[in-house]
Amino acid sequence: MRQWLKRLFDICFPRYCVVCGSRLRYAETCTCVRCLLNLPLTRFKGRRSNVVERILWDERIATQRANAFLKFDRLSPYCQIFYHFKYWSHPQVAVYYGRLMALDVRDEGFFEGIDLIVPVPLSRRRLGRRGYNQSERIAQGIRQVTGLPVQEGVVVRCVDNRTQTRLTAEERRQNVADIFRLARPEAVCGKHVLLVDDVITTGSTLRACAHALLEAGDVRLSVMGLAVSSYHMRWVFPEPCEAAQGQ
Ligand SMILES: [Zn+2]
Repeated sequence: MRQWLKRLFDICFPRYCVVCGSRLRYAETCTCVRCLLNLPLTRFKGRRSNVVERILWDERIATQRANAFLKFDRLSPYCQIFYHFKYWSHPQVAVYYGRLMALDVRDEGFFEGIDLIVPVPLSRRRLGRRGYNQSERIAQGIRQVTGLPVQEGVVVRCVDNRTQTRLTAEERRQNVADIFRLARPEAVCGKHVLLVDDVITTGSTLRACAHALLEAGDVRLSVMGLAVSSYHMRWVFPEPCEAAQGQ
């Protein structure tokens, strides 16, 4: 009976794929099977010294484990996943992809020894405008798979940093310096913390947040981003055609 009602609900209120916009079938959630099969995966799973680890090494931040699930490319239809939860008020998309990301690495022991999840915080002003923190929703998706607690308010974001896209590396560092403050060191001191971000673009925000967390002392750090900018992917792993041209 309940199944029948759900099917009827699906007919009256159709749902659409967040990537291609096609109508979802009864058993599909957020994304159609065809788009799921073609997700732009980073394939960092099980790879040490991957791009995310290297981004943190830039400022001598050591991580226990680091991963990003998807490649982020502004020209790809898959970037609409991020628009849905960042600009179009669909936080359930962030939770869904948080679950997918966690399921992808759960069996290889990625979460072993981790005590808690800390999402990269938003400023109070941006949180008020959006109504939720998208990194916190991704963290809730991870929690649903792993059972790890999500701890907010450990680090707070004091100010909004201006957009990073046109800045040099040094300007980016200055732009995010001191935007985070460690508010509750006792919550992370002596713990293994998983820091979660939505999209790692320049990496400056993630590094600044990691620095603030590490101020607590005796913190082991792992990092997860739902996506990493394809700019970084080209930098470390050149596309086959680019590599061929360079030979
Ligand atoms: Zn689709």
